[in-house]
Amino acid sequence: MPIRTGREYLRSLDDGRTICIDGDQVTDVVNDRRFAGAAETMAMLLEMQHDAGLTDKLTYASPSSGEKVGMTHITPLSKDDVVARGDAIQIWMDATCGMLGRSPDYKNVMVAAWAAASEIFDRDSFQGAANVRDFHQHVRENDLVMTHVLVNPQVDRSRPAHLQESEIVAQIVAEDDAGITIRGARMVATLCALANEIVVMPAAIRWATDEQRKSDDYSFGFAIPANTEGLRFICRPSMAHPDSGSPMDYPLSSMYEESDGIAIFDDVKVPWERVFIYRDDEAETLIHGKTRVGPHALHQSVVRAAAKSEFMMALALAVARSTKIDEHLNVQLLLAETINIAEFARTCRVAAEAESFQTPFGNWSPGLAPIQLWQSMFWKFYNRQCEIINTLGAGGLVGVPSIAELAGEVKDDVEKYFQSVNADSPTRIKLFRLAYDASLSSFAGRQRLYEQYYSGDPNRSQSLRFRMFDKDAHIDRIHHMLDDMEQRFSGGIGERVAAFREAGE
Ligand SMILES: Cc1cc2nc3c(=O)[nH]c(=O)nc-3n(C[C@H](O)[C@H](O)[C@H](O)COP(=O)(O)OP(=O)(O)OC[C@H]3O[C@@H](n4cnc5c(N)ncnc54)[C@H](O)[C@@H]3O)c2cc1C
Repeated sequence: MPIRTGREYLRSLDDGRTICIDGDQVTDVVNDRRFAGAAETMAMLLEMQHDAGLTDKLTYASPSSGEKVGMTHITPLSKDDVVARGDAIQIWMDATCGMLGRSPDYKNVMVAAWAAASEIFDRDSFQGAANVRDFHQHVRENDLVMTHVLVNPQVDRSRPAHLQESEIVAQIVAEDDAGITIRGARMVATLCALANEIVVMPAAIRWATDEQRKSDDYSFGFAIPANTEGLRFICRPSMAHPDSGSPMDYPLSSMYEESDGIAIFDDVKVPWERVFIYRDDEAETLIHGKTRVGPHALHQSVVRAAAKSEFMMALALAVARSTKIDEHLNVQLLLAETINIAEFARTCRVAAEAESFQTPFGNWSPGLAPIQLWQSMFWKFYNRQCEIINTLGAGGLVGVPSIAELAGEVKDDVEKYFQSVNADSPTRIKLFRLAYDASLSSFAGRQRLYEQYYSGDPNRSQSLRFRMFDKDAHIDRIHHMLDDMEQRFSGGIGERVAAFREAGE
């Protein structure tokens, strides 16, 4: 099956998966008030692939079947391919204001990168290369939506998993001719209620010292369908507000509340053909470092960030114009700041694509440096964009009523008292509810946390950045410069300086 319709996707979620939320066990996620909005949005994204005006950008001809498949599954074989993939991501991101972390493209680019580097998965402990390639083909040809869990649960971060007195952390507990059996938990599966497959890989950043190296019970990688027996997801409470008078009261929460959950593996059987990494001491460095997946995953992220920060900029401009505060110098400075943040993200994307290069595996990767720069700064900049909207919207963010009041008993009051110099009441209420949801609601808070943590702990990744950076050449340059200066001062320049001194005296 090539690209799916939205309807086909929604039907695929009716598969007996186990989703727990608020003490309920949800069987029909598509029609559950907590998941329905995001399910519709995901369906819309897949449907866009069929749109006559977009299909050439969102799809390409499958290398195996020749049929149209999603562009973000592509293995880029040139700089043009990288750019084409970025353009496809941008179409989806513009359509969702960059608010969906697990739109299908995020995992698609990662799995494609692993498949391109599949030889890395053929190890002494296990030959996983063919399985990785088959999985890539499977998700591409069936247009499947994926989530992933890379992190062990927060139990005791002072010890590695195998030194903890518990069976909380997911681990291999048995194996036989059919495959391995996994018991325990992993975090956090964003979109778990709405994904077709879950990818389980070792944590991305290796932090443990050699003595703390994980026992090989914890060193595995695999992917299984979301409805696999024994697999269940326990979700946080929803940030959608289904009881509000109108979805327009919380427009972003209503459409993009993608949900997060902890994955519980209750003696889940993983067939060998779905295992990618098995009892491998180097599992963490293997998938991240050696396959060079990082820049691919972050290519999706930087394009998403460019769309998201442009949306936040546009919102700040609209809020400021509605009450004409943009005539004040201090407000103009804030608006210039949010414009610059959007431009920063866009520039990082352009630079990453311009610096694309061919990897030893033959595929093309976005340039690393602009992406690392973006990753190190964006979450702070995104927080700042939220703060700017808070500062500009001020009391208005909590001072507009729900949309329902426009048709309520006091509608005449609402028409009169909620207008502003540049917006009638309905326009201003809608605008400020959007601004509230983007910058101040529980949905907004989760977006901020997402930007900070979704690709790992920024503290540890920036420490890694420092440790990996080639510092010696730069430090040597400073010492050479000092030596050179000293020499010049002891020669001609020094004498001239001394002569000036004497003349001055
Ligand atoms: C909204 C959201 C969505 C997410 N979605 C996904 C997803 O879909 N899939 C997925 O796999 N993950 C997801 N994550 C999880 C994300 O990968 C982790 O949050 C991230 O890796 C940080 O790990 P942690 O949350 O366990 O924090 P911890 O590791 O517990 O860290 C908490 C704090 O303690 C500090 N700390 C802890 N241990 C150390 C140490 N050894 N050395 C130094 N400092 C330390 C950290 O710097 C940090 O400040 C998501 C997270 C969020 C917030």
